[in-house]
Amino acid sequence: MAELALDQIAKLLAAKQVQVRANQKISRLLIDSRQFVSADACLFFALRGQNHDGHHHLFELMEKGVVNFVVEEVPRDLQAKANFIQVENTRAALQQLGRAVRKNSKAKVLAITGSNGKTVVKEWLSQLVQYDLKQVRSPKSFNSQVGVPLSLWRMDEDHELAIIEAGISKPGEMGKLAEIIQPDWGIFTNIGSAHSENFALLEQKIDEKLLLFKEVQLLIYEKNNSFLAQKIEAFAAENGIELFSWGLGQAHADVNLTMEEGEVRARWNNQTIKLDFPFADEGAVQNFGHSLSAALALGVAAEKIAKRAPKLQPVEMRLEMKRGIQGNLIINDAYNSDLESIRIALHFLEHHGKNRDKVLILSDVYQSGLPPKELYQKISKLINSSNLLKVIAIGERIGKYNQHFNCPTQYYPNTEAFLRDWPRHHFSHSAILLKGARKFHFEKISQRLEQKNHETVLHVNLHALIHNLNYYRAQLRPHTKIMAMVKAFGYGSGAFEVANALQFHGVNYLGVAYADEGVELRKAGISLPILVLNPELSAMPDMVKYTLEPEIYSFKRLREFAEHVTGCGEKDFPIHLKLETGMNRLGFTEEELPQLIAELQSIQVLKVESVFSHLAASDEALHDDFTRKQIAQFEQMSGQLEAALPYTFWRHLANSAAISRFPEAHFNLVRLGISLYGAASNEEEQKHLRVVSELKATVSQVKDLKPGETVSYGRSFTAHEAMQIAIISLGYADGFRRSLSNGRGEVFIRGKRYPTVGRVCMDMCMVNVTGSEVQEGDAVEIFGENISVNELAQNMDTIPYEVFTGISQRVKRVYFME
Ligand SMILES: *Cc1c(COP(=O)(O)O)cnc(C)c1O
Repeated sequence: MAELALDQIAKLLAAKQVQVRANQKISRLLIDSRQFVSADACLFFALRGQNHDGHHHLFELMEKGVVNFVVEEVPRDLQAKANFIQVENTRAALQQLGRAVRKNSKAKVLAITGSNGKTVVKEWLSQLVQYDLKQVRSPKSFNSQVGVPLSLWRMDEDHELAIIEAGISKPGEMGKLAEIIQPDWGIFTNIGSAHSENFALLEQKIDEKLLLFKEVQLLIYEKNNSFLAQKIEAFAAENGIELFSWGLGQAHADVNLTMEEGEVRARWNNQTIKLDFPFADEGAVQNFGHSLSAALALGVAAEKIAKRAPKLQPVEMRLEMKRGIQGNLIINDAYNSDLESIRIALHFLEHHGKNRDKVLILSDVYQSGLPPKELYQKISKLINSSNLLKVIAIGERIGKYNQHFNCPTQYYPNTEAFLRDWPRHHFSHSAILLKGARKFHFEKISQRLEQKNHETVLHVNLHALIHNLNYYRAQLRPHTKIMAMVKAFGYGSGAFEVANALQFHGVNYLGVAYADEGVELRKAGISLPILVLNPELSAMPDMVKYTLEPEIYSFKRLREFAEHVTGCGEKDFPIHLKLETGMNRLGFTEEELPQLIAELQSIQVLKVESVFSHLAASDEALHDDFTRKQIAQFEQMSGQLEAALPYTFWRHLANSAAISRFPEAHFNLVRLGISLYGAASNEEEQKHLRVVSELKATVSQVKDLKPGETVSYGRSFTAHEAMQIAIISLGYADGFRRSLSNGRGEVFIRGKRYPTVGRVCMDMCMVNVTGSEVQEGDAVEIFGENISVNELAQNMDTIPYEVFTGISQRVKRVYFME
């Protein structure tokens, strides 16, 4: 970790203005107030992003004792109380600092980029060279415009190697990263698979990534006949870069890997080494090829590598979140248990655990490189600032050092001892973080905690959800607000988890169908305003108690609600008026407006927060004239209300399809629904969205059939020749309709599609896998990346809305961020 005095940092950043009252040594950089651990030697960079502004958190951090800040503006009321370094742009300043630290270091800097595998290559290379070179690497996948400078900050004077990941999210960023990192060596992992029609795009992606390596001395890559390899070779020739290549069965590569009968051999420098490499899939071999080559190029002896290869640890990138027994939320982090990952996981627990009691189950920690005493002191600090109900500490080491945890701690020497003591623990409605080194087999604990379901799971990618949100956000005028519809259990994806992610990413409003859904969200800690589309009479007390805002669509509802609110002694309670413009569902008609205005003027306890209507066919070009009529009608009716009421309110009309198709329907708020969850109303738009949810089942059994045998109820399918079928753990009770029987539906297993045979049962279905390698236990995709929800909907004669919301509640939802 770098350590610099505050005035030195100010100089490096060419600050506009510096107010350093008491000079201090800085060793810790903070860019996110929620990741605050300790004020000691801490410098906060107030970054401005699309939806956040670090400047809003200065006061809160000062309260916690932070005294050093890099800001774009010094707040007047705080300026006398802390050290401020004022710069033009805090993000650029952070990058500048990263670059300065890198320049001062004598370490060889090796940068990794590519579409996939960056993190795994980094971790494995580090595992292969760790006893030969003193090295530092990016934590987890800190590879962005702010992640990279934070990674560089970790470099010390005596490091010999720094392994830095670089990733970009839009064109133009790589040049900037190259300037910051100034790599000596590079690894180009791979480029995502391309379809021939976007070949130009592929070339553009490669060129952009290569910018990182313009000044390197050595570039490591996979040599084969691919387009990427040719591009790299041309690039190296042009820029005078030395190449180091490896390949599978490539005799001309520097390192030639061969795989025969499960044995991996590497031929290098006229020497052949046998490698006992513990992973078999193609991606792992590629990642291994890169890390192996880099280790050899760095001069690590082949014999040493051969000894270390069998011990390579899988890199699990996903923090998984699941619903467990007794209403618990289980966060499972199987990533290696170094300090940084503990910090990230605790932060995740804080964010997703919201109102729940928080429990940490932690094993001995390896891979920190610190002496135990110092390591556990640091862990104590993290734990003590995390607001935990209790800690369960498992392992010999942690048992010696846990006396500094300031929350109740129970200790067990090993996982078995804890499981024997299981009946004494009552976990209920808690958020439980499992953080265990691999050898402690915490999966045994998570199995106990998880709901006993059949193995059918809906995977929900919250990053993809936010990607989709931002895609629509970019189409709005700057001040237009977004209401995210999370009705029907977040379109089947899980209301709280989705709402929580949306709240964090700056959505302005949430919409639910019934009051109960809103109450659930409030209880779980969601504070955004919530519109309830169907406020039932019986739910009124809850509406007021939990500040849920009703849609009012009739005089009867208006009067009832006004009376109830008066009885509660509330004032200016927000309501939302629904207007009828052509959908002919709920809403006030034009003829009713004069009376509505009169009644509103006499009701003091309610305040119209918004006026809205709903489009009947915004996704169908055939009805565009009708949609335009609806827009005009809404404009006109809401205008009448605006003229009559003494205050302004929000006006909204557009659902997902209308956001892109009818900009004139945005008014000042839009209601985003289905597209957020990854299903667009047309193909063009679909290209810009990411898949959010994937429904996965498993192969419960594979069975051989003889000619003449039949499958499933009613014997509607007969095998005419010998064949194999796979029995899949999902049926119509999960949402896989019976109408998908006998070939109407398909599933995706091991890279191929297989049609259903026989009738779909309640909890199972069968598919024809004749001649394939499908095996018991294989994962089965029902919809997701390979079979789109649109396609499944078409096969079921319905629309994606019904597919999403028809996934039974017994299907476990698992959330992850990549
Ligand atoms: C569900 C709903 C939406 C969202 O519609 P999408 O087509 O899913 O974007 C918008 N407004 C109202 C009133 C709704 O009920």
